[in-house]
Amino acid sequence: MTAAAGSAQGSAPVAPDRPASPARRVPQPAWDVERERPGLVAFVLDALASLYGVPAPAPRREPVEELVLTILSQHTSDLNAGRAFDELQRRFPAWDAVVEAPVEDVAAAIASGGLAAQKAPRIQHALRRIRAERGGYDLAFLADLGPTAARAWLTRLQGIGPKTASVVLLFCFGLPLMPVDTHVHRVMGRIGLVPPGTSADRAHNLALGLFPAQRVYEGHINLITHGRRTCTARRPACERCPVALRCRYLHPTAP
Ligand code: SF4
Repeated sequence: MTAAAGSAQGSAPVAPDRPASPARRVPQPAWDVERERPGLVAFVLDALASLYGVPAPAPRREPVEELVLTILSQHTSDLNAGRAFDELQRRFPAWDAVVEAPVEDVAAAIASGGLAAQKAPRIQHALRRIRAERGGYDLAFLADLGPTAARAWLTRLQGIGPKTASVVLLFCFGLPLMPVDTHVHRVMGRIGLVPPGTSADRAHNLALGLFPAQRVYEGHINLITHGRRTCTARRPACERCPVALRCRYLHPTAP
């Protein structure tokens, strides 16, 4: 499952960042949730694990496969993305063939994943850049760059944002990067793991080091599950939520 492929619906209740004008910018203190609310991260992880269990590691794909699949999963279900990916591989058994095909043919192959007119050139562009820079499609070198440098390398590719890059790096290499999809964003914002008003993009940076490295995957999967089953966008079921005691949505001054 490309777990970070949350649906675009159900916008999070945290407002996007509004960059201050340079003349009026106020220095922001570094965010350290554990300094302000000691033990919160472990409490949340343990509470979610008590409800949903500890997820087994996802089967690992080749990083370039995960990258293409994650592009396909943008704004659609994992099921549709999987179908589009299978059809792409059926019609173009090699990545070179995808790169060299007319973009309309690639779009036709991935039509079941939706937004094919945008995703086809995005996939071709990413593959083309990877081949040009690396002489092939092997992305194994990313594991040696470290989390932030690897993420920066991927996000230089057109159409690859921090969420897609984090999915590839977490799922394929176990690098401790939290992909912040719509569910993770909403749940983290409500609980108070990130400050009010944090954008999804900024949350990717704030989440660096927030979770213990060995529990980032678990946290990612369980935050998504929580957002889908319990802390839903429209009607969070706080009455049966194990995080309720320390959730800022219910208790604005919760420790
Ligand atoms: S207490 Fe309510 S708002 Fe807070 S995490 Fe649980 S379901 Fe979401």
